[in-house]
Amino acid sequence: MTEKICKMTIFEAYGDIKSQLKEAQIEDYVFEAKQIIKYVTGYTNKEILLNYTESLTDFQKDCMEAVLKERLKRYPLQYILGFWDFYGRRYKVGPGVLIPRQDTEIVAETCIDLIKDIKNPKVLDLCAGTGCIGITLAAEKQDSLVTLAEKYPEPIAFLEENIKQNAPENAKLLKGDVFEKIGSDEKYDLIVSNPPYVKSDEIAKLQPEVRFEPVSALDGGADGLDFYRFIAKEYKNSLKPGGRLVFEIGFDGADAVKNILERSGYKNITVKKDYYENERVIFGTVD
Ligand code: GLN
Repeated sequence: MTEKICKMTIFEAYGDIKSQLKEAQIEDYVFEAKQIIKYVTGYTNKEILLNYTESLTDFQKDCMEAVLKERLKRYPLQYILGFWDFYGRRYKVGPGVLIPRQDTEIVAETCIDLIKDIKNPKVLDLCAGTGCIGITLAAEKQDSLVTLAEKYPEPIAFLEENIKQNAPENAKLLKGDVFEKIGSDEKYDLIVSNPPYVKSDEIAKLQPEVRFEPVSALDGGADGLDFYRFIAKEYKNSLKPGGRLVFEIGFDGADAVKNILERSGYKNITVKKDYYENERVIFGTVD
């Protein structure tokens, strides 16, 4: 059976999606329109350029409309597609798990740099979510052993899948609660966490897409610092001498988290910015 062809070309569809997204005030409308076209056609960037005068099939057109309908309600594109890329690898995502952000790539990059000269480093990723930080480390540093700790069943389902896809040899899942000191009975070269850090009363002010994401991955307590305080103090003994604690921080978190690390006795505290010039990573060392 031949597929029915609709009248709209790939080029026209791209233009149409772009203008609808723009009208809905979706910030990255050009990038997102391209992602939707790739998803609908199954083409790579290069294939799109080579075939942009081709017409969509009826099925592709229906698919495009279904994606747009959801997206225009500000439902996150990542949840609609069911996957998202982080540091060059593909991750399964969906409702119930925090979507990997590009800002977080600098956290992964910082960790890779900190462990690059250590032989068989042991790493713990707390509040792992999709696993994008810990899995990146495991995949980039193949002699490492990375433990990814996560409490909630929804992210755990994605995490298991993402480990299997991207780092099945040296990344392992550990189910449990940070506040019960999950994984703290071992010694690590590096502990990393992108914990929930939004202040409780600011959750309602976040952009519409973020409000479809799990509150448990965002809410860091009244001052947004609950996880930092607990992890800095309670996991300090789980670091080897010279071991590093690395945190992602929110745009205004550097001073407060620096204070917490200092008071907990960490040395050589360093803050790094992301690609958008926001302070995004902080780390300290234990003696
Ligand atoms: N960066 C997230 C945001 O956009 C917050 C993630 C977190 O709390 N760790 O709100």
